[in-house]
Amino acid sequence: MDSCSPFDSIIFDLDDTLYSSKTGIGQSLKKNIDDFLVEKCGFPVSKASALRVELFKTYGSSLAGLRAMGYDVDADDYHSYVHGRLPYDLIKPDAQLRSILHSINQRKIIFTNSDRIHAMKALERLGVKDCFEQIICFETMNFNLSKATRPEEIPVILKPSLEAMNIAIEAAQVDPCRTLFLDDNVKNIAAGKAVGLPTVLVGRATKTKEADYTLEMVTDLVQVVPAIWFKEEKDKKITRTRSEMDFVATTAVGA
Ligand SMILES: [Mg+2]
Repeated sequence: MDSCSPFDSIIFDLDDTLYSSKTGIGQSLKKNIDDFLVEKCGFPVSKASALRVELFKTYGSSLAGLRAMGYDVDADDYHSYVHGRLPYDLIKPDAQLRSILHSINQRKIIFTNSDRIHAMKALERLGVKDCFEQIICFETMNFNLSKATRPEEIPVILKPSLEAMNIAIEAAQVDPCRTLFLDDNVKNIAAGKAVGLPTVLVGRATKTKEADYTLEMVTDLVQVVPAIWFKEEKDKKITRTRSEMDFVATTAVGA
């Protein structure tokens, strides 16, 4: 008798998970954030990098930290400054990743702290945009941010907060204990574990307490988590054809 897959859905982080942290995109992002802190917020050049690190540690991002500190930074302006000028051509099409994603019959969802425009651009560069049925991103978690009368009135919600994790589970309409969650950030993995998701830490050689699996590269998924490809439960058989799946993915992601 065939074994059944323990997973109905797979939630993937994007940056440094679907593509390597060695692309140089992360370094460019840090530089852009430092420039934003200097040019738009008036911090001294000598303090920018340390402040960025501090805001990331304390608030989850520089945007979240700046708004919590009372700086009236518009999220769209921030994202277009720090992401808009990234060298996206450093992200190359990944045919192996695309083929692995295509071989996974379960629902595949992106869950990123980045804004939607960045997510779409990065997925397009990787050549896997049509492999996902949904993108849960900054805007999903922070849809009411523009209603704040003061920047600190409504806190920015991001992974690894449990609120962010629960928003994602709700938005994706998944059963946490049957949903595999991949991320490169140890704190995000711990948050995933805390809300009941089986977890995969990506980009590391060594396991952490909260990671059920560890992959050096996302394409190692086939070897490390073969249970993804086990047959579906009899009462949950996939009846959709590949072309129907492609249609669902394209329309949902493009929406
Ligand atoms: Mg990441």
